[in-house]
Amino acid sequence: MPQEPKKRHSRQRQGKRRAAIKLTASKYIFCPNCGNPVFPHVVCKNCGFYKGKEIINKTKKLSEATRQPARQESASGGKEEKK
Ligand SMILES: [Zn+2]
Repeated sequence: MPQEPKKRHSRQRQGKRRAAIKLTASKYIFCPNCGNPVFPHVVCKNCGFYKGKEIINKTKKLSEATRQPARQESASGGKEEKK
């Protein structure tokens, strides 16, 4: 048999307990390189810098991303609406 509470807690006591339960805003800092808000101990998503060093090369990724849509535009020519 599982343990059971000996007596019922009053609504006041229940309310007091639940008054301490609340959401807290997550802590963040501003990136010293670009000034964007970032989480501490995490690489900046905007510039890819952490502790003054470039961890992720954002300029290289951007050029790759711009190439991909150009291929899709040339491939998508088979869309025709039937009347
Ligand atoms: Zn940054």
